[in-house]
Amino acid sequence: MSDYDALVIGSGLGGVSSAALLARNGFKTLILEQSDAVGGCCSSFQLQGRRFDTGATMVMLIRPLEEVFRRMGRRIQDYVDLIPCEPIYSVRAYDGRRFSMPADLQEAAALIASLAPEDKDNWERYAHVGGSMIELLDEMMLKPANTWAETLRAFWEKPSIARFYPYLLRSAQGVTLSLFRNQLVRSNLAFQAYCAGSPPDIAMGSLVFVALCQHLGIYYPRGGMIAIPEGIVKAGEEHGLEVSFNRKVERILLEGKETRGVLLEDGTEITSDIVVSNVNAKVTYLKMIGPENLPRWAIKAISSYRPSMACPMVYLCLDTRPPLDAHNTIGITSLEAGNRLWHEFYERGIMPRESGFLLNWPTEADPSLAPEGEHLLNLAWGGPSPYALLGDNWDRLKPAFASASLEMLEKEMMPDIREHIRVLEVATPLDFERKLLLPQGGIYGLFLDLFSSGMFRPRNRSKVVKNLYLTGASTGLGGSLPTTLASGIIASDYILRDHG
Ligand SMILES: Cc1cc2nc3c(=O)[nH]c(=O)nc-3n(C[C@H](O)[C@H](O)[C@H](O)COP(=O)(O)OP(=O)(O)OC[C@H]3O[C@@H](n4cnc5c(N)ncnc54)[C@H](O)[C@@H]3O)c2cc1C
Repeated sequence: MSDYDALVIGSGLGGVSSAALLARNGFKTLILEQSDAVGGCCSSFQLQGRRFDTGATMVMLIRPLEEVFRRMGRRIQDYVDLIPCEPIYSVRAYDGRRFSMPADLQEAAALIASLAPEDKDNWERYAHVGGSMIELLDEMMLKPANTWAETLRAFWEKPSIARFYPYLLRSAQGVTLSLFRNQLVRSNLAFQAYCAGSPPDIAMGSLVFVALCQHLGIYYPRGGMIAIPEGIVKAGEEHGLEVSFNRKVERILLEGKETRGVLLEDGTEITSDIVVSNVNAKVTYLKMIGPENLPRWAIKAISSYRPSMACPMVYLCLDTRPPLDAHNTIGITSLEAGNRLWHEFYERGIMPRESGFLLNWPTEADPSLAPEGEHLLNLAWGGPSPYALLGDNWDRLKPAFASASLEMLEKEMMPDIREHIRVLEVATPLDFERKLLLPQGGIYGLFLDLFSSGMFRPRNRSKVVKNLYLTGASTGLGGSLPTTLASGIIASDYILRDHG
């Protein structure tokens, strides 16, 4: 008799969604989380009486989140209060221009027509094509596409996907140049594709439509980003789900080629026939399973994946309202500068002195996160942040990085910002690696391109270890809130099919 029907390693969004759905379906399920909080990259933490978000700062494409609650027989609004953010983002462009993007597509079209009259019709075409593509993605995201057969079936069921090949098979730069003539419009869309982890000349063309997804709504959960995984866990606990914190899994135990449980860092063994790993797939296979238990081809295949981009974060609390007008403000580089930052800096291990940025203002949506009158900001440099720095390391660079970040904010937003700081904290790629065990601080698990997504990414149902399932950013469509929630749904579907 095993201790549990299913053990889930890690409480990131992929972990909590798969675990809650297994509990809902009668599996005695335990989540083992090495840190002291739920959510991984989608979490929040207390610092000097303020609640900051660890990594992710907003959610869009909420269908997978709604689907998790729907399958639990629950209503999302009873567990998570999603506050809509409008305008969806505000832009500070490389050429000094500033604008705020309304969610409404007609208003957005009017804004584009005023900024770039030559692209008025092109924007409408982009919105039309992108709208149908996002509708299709929303549906397909929840379907497994781990194998050739599953992928071909998905394409067979949705032949309309062929319309999108010109966008899917080219780089983000290729798509942007083919769609638009205006440099500012091109750079805005290419920059947002860049935030998914690679420069415009490498990023997948489909990522140019990330900017459009935001027009379907972006939301901030009341109580901070942790409210999303907490809501899922709460619904799971109503079906018997258990969560245990400060419990690091060291090894996945095998009997022959099948899982039989896990070994914790403190030497405790917990048995279960089914093991779900929400941990980076390279760590899962090469450390927790061990190369001695894998065929040579599998070691070669899993070793070939590169980690995704790292992203240091600056957490700030100000004693005054910042001069912003949107939950998200993005400082965009030109398309060419985006490529240059990657190839001349990131790939050579150099932190650039200038970059684009993403500035998030959570207290605009939820003032209760900080004492009255104070405001929180999360700053991420948009673009390359190498993990391994040439001739330096992040522990040494941290103070200089904090100072460079403040210089950027002085220039872009608030010349007297230093006088208003109540709290300042920086999380470097090394901190993310230590706190969340993200290899090389990679915020999206593994690097994402056409040949490392979908069926080319590690599978949700392991091919080499029976009853091992993977979920999270290193599977399926990669990192982000909707894709990791979808991966949790898919992993639980496989388990229900195999063991239900
Ligand atoms: C700085 C930053 C900004 C981001 N911004 C956005 C955004 O705005 N929008 C968006 O959609 N996405 C964003 N993302 C990406 C998104 O947050 C992640 O892709 C997603 O949350 C990852 O979910 P996951 O299921 O892969 O699990 P993870 O979040 O990677 O969680 C894995 C969990 O496993 C635990 N764990 C690891 N090893 C062990 C072990 N040995 N034993 C037990 N537990 C273990 C970890 O502690 C962690 O809690 C951001 C990420 C970061 C870091």
